[in-house]
Amino acid sequence: MLHPDTNEAPVYNLYINGQWRTPRSELYEPTFDPATGEILGYVAKADAEDTREAIRAAREAFDDGYWASMAPGERSRLLHQIVDAVEERQFELAELEMRDGGCTWRKATLMDIPVGLIHFRHFAKLADFEPLEPLPQIQFPALSYNYVRREPIGVCGQIIPWNFPFLMAIWKIAPALAAGNTVILKPASYTPLSALKLVEIIHDTGLLPPGVLNLVTGPGQVVGPELCSNPMVDKIAFTGSTEVGRDIIRQAASTVKKMTLELGGKSPNIILEDADLDLAVDGSLWATFMHNGQACESGTRLFVPTSIYDEFMERLVDRARQLKVGLPDDGETDLGPVISAGQLHTIEDYIQVGIQEGATPVLLGERPTDPELANGFFITPTIFTDVRNDMRIAQEEIFGPVLAVIKYDTVDETIRMANDTIYGLAAGVWSRDVERAISVANRIKAGTVWINDYHLISAEAPFGGYKQSGLGRELGVYGLHEYTEVKHIHVDLTNSRDARFWYDIVVPRKE
Ligand code: NAD
Ligand code: MN
Repeated sequence: MLHPDTNEAPVYNLYINGQWRTPRSELYEPTFDPATGEILGYVAKADAEDTREAIRAAREAFDDGYWASMAPGERSRLLHQIVDAVEERQFELAELEMRDGGCTWRKATLMDIPVGLIHFRHFAKLADFEPLEPLPQIQFPALSYNYVRREPIGVCGQIIPWNFPFLMAIWKIAPALAAGNTVILKPASYTPLSALKLVEIIHDTGLLPPGVLNLVTGPGQVVGPELCSNPMVDKIAFTGSTEVGRDIIRQAASTVKKMTLELGGKSPNIILEDADLDLAVDGSLWATFMHNGQACESGTRLFVPTSIYDEFMERLVDRARQLKVGLPDDGETDLGPVISAGQLHTIEDYIQVGIQEGATPVLLGERPTDPELANGFFITPTIFTDVRNDMRIAQEEIFGPVLAVIKYDTVDETIRMANDTIYGLAAGVWSRDVERAISVANRIKAGTVWINDYHLISAEAPFGGYKQSGLGRELGVYGLHEYTEVKHIHVDLTNSRDARFWYDIVVPRKE
């Protein structure tokens, strides 16, 4: 669409080389509130040339060496000041997060923004790392001194999804900046506002040199390929669907970029016979329906043992019926809207698929009739029983409030089914016997396993996927290291030629 009337809703530009710029095309796209349909703002639609401009800015800012070779302690100090500035604006950020992406106010204020700040703060702290790591003394072939030097990788293109817009922006820019890289961030088109606000706050601090952090909004199919294939970009970090992830790998292949990918999931949540039922029932609801199931790690395949099946399911369905679908700013709301009309249709299609496959909808999701919700994308929770692990509703990521319940007899059988998926992001195990739960956790092929809990992602712990759930890890030192190259430096301490090892070259045998 054309440049909008600025009185209507705010207009957001591209952030390139420390300046806010209009897109070359002068085109903007609206972003909506999925609860009401209201237009919240008009967001610049970058093309490939705008993207290249941002890449050039990030390249120059990296190559001039000021940011990359700054003393780690100094970079850490600046990042701490930036986190302070972001923290001061946290309610503004929470409001944008709720309105643009449809998360509940409870989630925005208790989870998205405060946890994002904790993670950002942790990377500000990790920024003060020791880049030189001595190696054990190596006599190869004679006395030498060896060490590893951790260096930033360079220019990082970072592409994020719509489901946790603020947190995903932090997970990308915080470790990249902490390690001394420069960044071009591309938010999802449905939810650009909290990332734009974050960058605005950072810009207003005046603490980062121009070009170190750039933000480009626009279509994934235009901005994405440019970031992935441009030879001036050294690393791609992507969070999104496995399907687009495969495409990113193809696009990045020609320049063999460093890469981290956080992709989809279909995580198993396993109830053992001796689980604390109250805890496990509520935990299973939390695992599945948090943010409407729009989380990559959602526990959407629930394994329940035959011996406690009837009692467990009765309690689970009873509690699920009490979940309140409503407006995100209502403190009583458990489930707000899903992100878009398209996502709502996908969910409804999957419900039909489940019925056709022969699963039983013991709770059938439908659009609420409340007139207050008429303009938003709302749907009530669905629980399917009689699910077999080979059904599409058990194998494919739905990204909505739909739970597939699978009954099992033996633990071996459930572990086999739990692992029988292309994904491996996360899992849950519920038991009163921690030793037993750990033995199950050890056999699950997933990057995170929660025992008697779910969805807890800590700043220090690695997060990421086995199998087609991704490559690499985010958070903690694991996440920081994904933004560094390691260089081995070998210093010969003997200052002599070594005839044994300069084997192919004719050298004087005696000095
Ligand atoms: P998506 O894959 O459709 O889009 C993700 C981002 O990629 C968006 O910014 C989009 O504009 C961009 N994009 C689209 N096409 C592209 C292309 N051809 N090249 C480059 N970029 C392109 O995903 P989504 O619908 O925004 O998010 C939901 C998905 O994200 C789910 O599959 C979910 O599991 C996954 N996710 C994973 C994690 C994790 O940490 N593993 C976290 C959150 C979400
Ligand atoms: Mn939106």
